[in-house]
Amino acid sequence: MSELIAAEHAGRVIDGLRTIVGAPNLFAGADIEDRYRVDVMQKHHARPLAVVRPADTTQVVEIIKIAARAAVPVTPLGGRTGVVGGGVCRDGGIVLSLERMNRVLEVDDSSMTMTVEAGVPLQQAQEVAEAHGFILPLDLGARGSATIGGNIATNAGGVRVLRWGMTRDMVLGLEAVLANGAVVSSLSKSLKDNAGYHWKDLLIGSEGTLGVVTRAVLRLRPLPASTQTALLALGGFESVPALLRRLEGRFAGQLSSFELMWQDFYDYVTAAQLNTRRPPLPPGSPLYALVETLGSDPVRDLELFQEGLHEAGEAGLIEDAVIAQTARERGNLWAVRDDLTEPFKPLFPLAAFDVSLALKDMPAFVRDSRAAVLALYPSSTILYYGHAGDGNLHVAVALDRSGPDAETKVETAVYGCIRQYGGSISAEHGVGTAKRTYIGYTRSKTELALMRSIKQALDPDNIMNPGKVLPDRD
Ligand SMILES: Cc1cc2nc3c(=O)[nH]c(=O)nc-3n(C[C@H](O)[C@H](O)[C@H](O)COP(=O)(O)OP(=O)(O)OC[C@H]3O[C@@H](n4cnc5c(N)ncnc54)[C@H](O)[C@@H]3O)c2cc1C
Repeated sequence: MSELIAAEHAGRVIDGLRTIVGAPNLFAGADIEDRYRVDVMQKHHARPLAVVRPADTTQVVEIIKIAARAAVPVTPLGGRTGVVGGGVCRDGGIVLSLERMNRVLEVDDSSMTMTVEAGVPLQQAQEVAEAHGFILPLDLGARGSATIGGNIATNAGGVRVLRWGMTRDMVLGLEAVLANGAVVSSLSKSLKDNAGYHWKDLLIGSEGTLGVVTRAVLRLRPLPASTQTALLALGGFESVPALLRRLEGRFAGQLSSFELMWQDFYDYVTAAQLNTRRPPLPPGSPLYALVETLGSDPVRDLELFQEGLHEAGEAGLIEDAVIAQTARERGNLWAVRDDLTEPFKPLFPLAAFDVSLALKDMPAFVRDSRAAVLALYPSSTILYYGHAGDGNLHVAVALDRSGPDAETKVETAVYGCIRQYGGSISAEHGVGTAKRTYIGYTRSKTELALMRSIKQALDPDNIMNPGKVLPDRD
């Protein structure tokens, strides 16, 4: 296409989009703000043709139809907190931001469900649920910005997966717009629905590559009346499986979080936070566990929590413990695990990993991956932490600044260890563009071929968020 024809073509697409959403909701050229061009990790950049902000599903349909006719790719965008570059479009593509579709449509007390538009921020949905006496159990550090649509598209996990599962486990009904403009909708409120293939499960975790999620029905639970939180110092990983099993049994299904922090992480973060808070437990233990239960009887739950931890201590599974007595103390315990923005700043540029593997293989993975990175860059800072109760580990590696290919070398080393232990390169963040080169470390050729045939069936012209999830070649 000559430059003149290309410019005319682009102009027609922009005019068409403007007609659908109105001038205030269409940005093109220099009017496109940086937040639509670069991801939260500042690693992935793009020059979109246009950013468009539809008001409802009908407008999403019209946008997709224009994009399909003009063969311009579309990238759905929620709260822009995704960390694998999935929300950054191709150069010349359309960014379809769900930010105006941000209404909670209904809370149904009798079926304990909430129906929302995809652009509702997670925290807003949590607060509305709470005002009705329910909990929306999905919770993660980016709750203030991340949207329900983005959570669904990435099948987000977070800090309560141990008890209530991933986003997938909370989505009862879904509405989405497919690449051909068809609206596929089943806003079911039932737990059971075995009438044929579960197409909604294909869209959950598809990172915008199969369609645009526009509405969802989410499952709510009764609001817990008590929260018990403790930070534990452990003598080593040997005690972790027995401790987790014991606490799950003893706390009678109330254990909602079991976060592990290795010594390197705990010592580094608590030292970096010294200006704002004192370490809740002294540094220097091999491992720390942050545990939380959510229950319905504040007095009995506290007794049960204290007894359970005391017994675990007697059994030699815990070396030291601090139990939060107030909401402020609870916040301070969680801050060691969650308040990482400032502590991590000196570590940039950072290679951040979100992997999963069997609990029993974690110590060997930590040992081997640390050795593999140190063999490449002997002075690297490497921090291990994560939602270990779910088999989910995060690894943060401060990259050696001397080599331009340091990140690729470190990724190959860490993902190589994950492959060795039969784990997954992505526990909860998705694949996006950042991990697609490595998806073959986790998925077989047959699995990748199946994924490609699903993509081909739903999006034969590769309009929906191309270049994400699947590698160009196996
Ligand atoms: C501080 C911090 C903490 C985090 N903690 C966690 C955590 O504990 N667990 C976890 O799982 N993740 C975590 N994340 C990652 C991130 O918050 C999640 O991936 C979240 O689900 C992304 O939601 P979003 O609305 O920001 O999506 P975006 O970043 O806007 O988009 C993410 C992907 O979803 C697609 N998408 C977005 N909306 C739609 C839609 N309506 N329809 C179709 N596709 C769509 C995009 O195209 C993109 O591929 C964290 C991120 C940060 C910055």
